[in-house]
Amino acid sequence: MSFLLVPNLISLVVPAFNEQENLPVLVERLRAVMSTLSDPATDRPVAYEILIVDDGSTDRTKAVLRQLSMRYNEVRFISFSRNFGHQVALRAGYEHARGICAISLDADLQHPPELIPTLVKKWREGFDVVYTVRHQDPNLPWKKRFTSRNFYRLLRAASDLELEDGAADFRLLDRKVLNVLKQHQENDLFVRGMISWMGFRQCRIEYEPAARFAGTTKYSFKKMLQLAMMGITSFSTKPLYISVVVGLCMALFSSLFGLEVLYEYFFTNATVSGWTTLVLLVVLIGGVQFIVIGIMGVYLGKTFIEVKRRPPYIIGDSSEIEEIIQWQVP
Ligand code: UDP
Ligand code: MG
Repeated sequence: MSFLLVPNLISLVVPAFNEQENLPVLVERLRAVMSTLSDPATDRPVAYEILIVDDGSTDRTKAVLRQLSMRYNEVRFISFSRNFGHQVALRAGYEHARGICAISLDADLQHPPELIPTLVKKWREGFDVVYTVRHQDPNLPWKKRFTSRNFYRLLRAASDLELEDGAADFRLLDRKVLNVLKQHQENDLFVRGMISWMGFRQCRIEYEPAARFAGTTKYSFKKMLQLAMMGITSFSTKPLYISVVVGLCMALFSSLFGLEVLYEYFFTNATVSGWTTLVLLVVLIGGVQFIVIGIMGVYLGKTFIEVKRRPPYIIGDSSEIEEIIQWQVP
């Protein structure tokens, strides 16, 4: 799909899944913040668009979006045919943004819109990526804190990505970066990792996350785990090497153990006993083999998915009818 780029337009990209209560409030807050920003060239208020990606919501999100887009010229939306996941929604937002930069933020107001002028300021100073890192909020439930911290730890250990604790999907990307992102054909695009991998001039900003305005988190433990797996397998084949090392260690251990048993059999009078040892070893080696085969299977499965070249998402509806028509005409 090709879109006209609009000079000096700032795009705000918001993935939303079942956020009917949050969206009207979010749009008001964004409008208020954006009206305080002015274009340095003309000294007039900046032009902006709010592009909301409805990730196959099952509540009234789409109806709310339709109303908002009719009421405000700045509001556009894309609606997926089903739930494709947050990372995919974010990607679709970046791909359809028309601005010279895009700022992504969550629909639940946890990413304070009031920080946008700071992001824009840094971008005008010449940074291509302005990313944010959240302070660890002590009021967060321990479960969320635990999963979040270990999510990044696991990612760093199992891949070679330099991801900071609490790196959020609240960031500003320059058009240059958006264009590079657009060129990626892979189905499983882990945006957070891709941005750290791409380089460019990056700037870091810390922020205090707010509480979710309404509704509950859409990131279940299962989705977090899937995201971690996707992050690892998209960026590194380290798990494959780790399984080679584990295999080597086990082979070494079993050779030494075998030597000892042979020695006992031939050179001592002791009968070699060891039913328990035998069972334990069989079970242990069997387990390790399954893990190693599983890891290989995960990579093979990913290759299978990527080779099929399916579109990463399907747009079912949008504020501009031509987007659907373009999608249907190959
Ligand atoms: N989200 C989405 N698709 C999903 C899950 C989440 O588009 O399958 C959106 C959600 O509407 C929100 C953002 O991603 O705007 C972050 O989700 P959430 O706030 O539930 O995650 P948390 O802040 O709890 O990590
Ligand atoms: Mg949230």
